[in-house]
Amino acid sequence: MTSVHSTPVGPSQGPEHVRADVAVVGAGVVGLATAWELRRRGRSVVVVDPEPGSGASRAAAGMLAPVSEVQYQQEPLYPLMLASAAEYPRFVAELEEAAGGSVGHRATETLVCGVDAADRQALADLAGFQRRHGMAVEQLPLRAARALEPALSPRLSAAFRIPDDHQIDPRRLVAGLLAALTAPRPPGSAASPGAPARDGGPARLVHDRAVAVRRNADGAVTGVRLAGGGMVSAAGTVLSPGTGLQDLEDLPGSWSPPLRPVHGDILRTRVPAGTPHLLERTVRGLVHGIPVYLVPREDGTVVVGATSREDDLPGPSAGGVFRLLRDAQALVPGVADLELVEVMARARPGTPDDIPYLGRVRDPDGAPVPGLVVSTGYFRHGVLLTPLAARLAAQLVLGEGGPDPAADAGHLDTTDPHRFDPEAPTGHPQPVASGPGAQNRSTP
Ligand SMILES: Cc1cc2nc3c(=O)[nH]c(=O)nc-3n(C[C@H](O)[C@H](O)[C@H](O)COP(=O)(O)OP(=O)(O)OC[C@H]3O[C@@H](n4cnc5c(N)ncnc54)[C@H](O)[C@@H]3O)c2cc1C
Repeated sequence: MTSVHSTPVGPSQGPEHVRADVAVVGAGVVGLATAWELRRRGRSVVVVDPEPGSGASRAAAGMLAPVSEVQYQQEPLYPLMLASAAEYPRFVAELEEAAGGSVGHRATETLVCGVDAADRQALADLAGFQRRHGMAVEQLPLRAARALEPALSPRLSAAFRIPDDHQIDPRRLVAGLLAALTAPRPPGSAASPGAPARDGGPARLVHDRAVAVRRNADGAVTGVRLAGGGMVSAAGTVLSPGTGLQDLEDLPGSWSPPLRPVHGDILRTRVPAGTPHLLERTVRGLVHGIPVYLVPREDGTVVVGATSREDDLPGPSAGGVFRLLRDAQALVPGVADLELVEVMARARPGTPDDIPYLGRVRDPDGAPVPGLVVSTGYFRHGVLLTPLAARLAAQLVLGEGGPDPAADAGHLDTTDPHRFDPEAPTGHPQPVASGPGAQNRSTP
């Protein structure tokens, strides 16, 4: 693919027509990181989004939790989570260099706690399962847990330490990606693994909604049509609009993979001015079987989350907020003394098996549509999966390989976006997210 910088063409008044090597639809963490990866691979990029960073990425707690996020019967997801977690340190280091500042990554451990005997048993069973998958989990005497985090309740039943589950502030991640994408020249144009140090130039942000995919007479996708009447022309198009995928018209064969909004309520709190931080590490766990988490940021704020609702309420749920505050106080009583600074809800883009859709889009006859890649459905793990998602989507749309082709092929087999098509071959993971407890539980 040749490099064409993203300059506007056509009339200066009226609908815009912009061109670039690649169009990225959706500027959440996934789309922005994909665009940045493309820039670093020497390609010009146009990113289309009416309100960058306003979707699920705005609400996310930012737990990078490949271990404590393990759920039974989701084995195909574990390698994706572990691979992306392994890419995080380098991703953050290069991004911070390009953005010129911190994106709020904290490599602090996570404590997982329970309140009653059933919680203790459930967490112990899960710890055994995690260890059998090679993950590090250490049971702590309660006194040791409270020595690490004195704010923990004295009435806990169990505590486990997970050293490899870290966190990032998704809002700072979005800001850092926007800065790195639009910087005139990348201050540190460090290369991705296997790619030469190149720069596609500052990305163009188009604050509009993509309404349809454009195809030429040969069937190749040539960009997108915009709600405002404009167009983006590109040799490659990456669709990363979160739950918005289903509103896009003219997808090949009217393709519409199952994707549902799973709303999450989440709170932001902070310690009163002049008082010490409440926590140093992420604390999460079960309170009489209901999950809850507290994620402390560097600035003293504590994120408390999150419910998981498949109802039609787009704003925060009163019952959900009540349960979060009640259960967070059961783990850390000092939550009652915090200032409540924000209550919000957003929809996670949920797939039937909790695994994203990442891959080349195919026509009904099974042939890949030239120039079209989809990258959505990241559900509860989009922040964790961002480095891997960005690298794989960039490689796919450019037809480039990665440092470990066999591992990448395995990941892409798992994330096959057509695995739920009626004619898809069997052998792919079956839906597990709709079982008992899938509603109204607390998850990222
Ligand atoms: C309460 C909550 C807590 C969470 N906590 C965690 C966590 O701790 N760790 C973790 O890894 N994940 C977490 N997640 C999940 C994570 O937030 C998502 O998986 C991730 O943000 C998905 O990113 P995305 O870029 O795919 O989608 P989004 O962030 O939703 O971005 C999609 C973007 O596409 C744009 N868009 C939509 N349609 C169009 C269109 N037609 N044209 C142009 N643009 C369009 C939207 O405006 C939006 O900006 C949480 C989610 C929630 C809701």
